Amino acid sequence: MRYISTRGGAPAQTFLEILLGGLAPDGGLYVPECYPRFGREELAAMRGMDYRELAYTVLSPYMDDIPPADLKALIHRTYTTATYSHGRRDSDFTQITPVRRLEEGLYLLELSNGPTLAFKDMAMQLLGNLFEYALERTGRDLNILGATSGDTGSAAEYAMRGKRRIRVFMLAPEHGMTPFQQAQMWTLQDPNIHNIAIRGVFDDCQDIVKNVSKDIEFKEKYRIGAVNSINWARVAAQVVYYFKAYLAVAREIGEPVSFSVPSGNFGNVCAGHIARMMGLPIRRLIVATNENDVLDEFFRTGVYRPRSPAETRHTSSPSMDISKASNFERFVFDLTGRDAALVRDLWREVDQGRAFDLKPSGLFERVSGFGFVSGSSCHANRIATIRMVWERYGTMIDTHTADGLKVGLEHREAGVPLVCLETALPAKFEDAIREALGRAPERPAGLVDLERLPRRVQVMDPDTQAVKDYIARHAND
Ligand SMILES: *Cc1c(COP(=O)(O)O)cnc(C)c1O
Repeated sequence: MRYISTRGGAPAQTFLEILLGGLAPDGGLYVPECYPRFGREELAAMRGMDYRELAYTVLSPYMDDIPPADLKALIHRTYTTATYSHGRRDSDFTQITPVRRLEEGLYLLELSNGPTLAFKDMAMQLLGNLFEYALERTGRDLNILGATSGDTGSAAEYAMRGKRRIRVFMLAPEHGMTPFQQAQMWTLQDPNIHNIAIRGVFDDCQDIVKNVSKDIEFKEKYRIGAVNSINWARVAAQVVYYFKAYLAVAREIGEPVSFSVPSGNFGNVCAGHIARMMGLPIRRLIVATNENDVLDEFFRTGVYRPRSPAETRHTSSPSMDISKASNFERFVFDLTGRDAALVRDLWREVDQGRAFDLKPSGLFERVSGFGFVSGSSCHANRIATIRMVWERYGTMIDTHTADGLKVGLEHREAGVPLVCLETALPAKFEDAIREALGRAPERPAGLVDLERLPRRVQVMDPDTQAVKDYIARHAND
């Protein structure tokens, strides 16, 4: 399989060639040259597979420059019950992504039973093993620099901890995360994980990362890389659980199933789109946003208008607080019939902070043919949904999942099974749960005393040079 850029200006590359990089050199995103398709019989054969066999079947066409035995071993090491067993006590962790039946035709897909209690562990754990494998083969090493407001940073740290040839330098606002998220990251004692708390806000952290990345000489000298959400391997890894869920809920192969997805950077629901392109009988892909409704606006009107940081709201589903959806370009590439010249023109606007409108060209009419619908949710909706799900089904959900369920139910159709993706566990967002239910969420076993463990974190001013100096001192440890 070769990978091409959505903007058409980069040479085709293999999977291992694009794995460690970010954007394509022309500023576009890498996408596979084609999507392998599975027919009815191949889907039927998947019914008997466990998560690892399924992951190998779905992923191997995309990662075909890794020898099959090596890829199998990587997948088997990644998707273990031991790693994905941090969720509710009554879940069947052997399924890796168990499906919880709320009522006839309504399901929760549990994606948050990994070490950081959010769905990002599903892809990030595989990425950690893939990175280590690729670096080992080339004899190189990598210093991952990132900024986080919560979920991505912790998922990256738990995926990369203890890995050979990899160090992580993760910037986070000193006071910007929930106490649980702070404790999750800052109690890690692994020597290859460097937590840096910045006396500032998330944007200060992100600015430092951008400044460092602009210094090409520094970047090369210290082998700086990233684990951002546009990484193709992350998107690919997320395709697997759409297959897993489909096979778990469809009464027969071919029956259409709809998915509702709490969305921010469009990575998760983009994986659903790809599963659908691969032949999975998905009826609707329901894009759920919070008050930051860039994506909902597009799917209702055809206008994609990235927001300024000042317009981006801080909400009680913070992992969906985005100003633009970085993976969205991958879908628009398919929507335009893979017209790279057009995508380049559209993103010339986006990169200048301007909007584009797909209605005049008639392209917007094609959206429904891809199954997409959307809706948005606000704080009051989240609280009401958390309460409703608790009272009606006895299941506690987090704020992001509540956004997904709220919008999913608005688009539910009689007779079509609806699967709502659970993107985090309630334990991560204690304040909102207290507000909704008047009680604290349950902590998974082993995390009860997390806040009391010793911490390993450097506190620094928002000063790019100080961060660079720190990296330079530790980049060869
Ligand atoms: C990252 C995240 C999302 C958004 O996922 P995207 O792939 O960026 O659309 C939703 N919920 C939670 C809990 C997350 O951590």
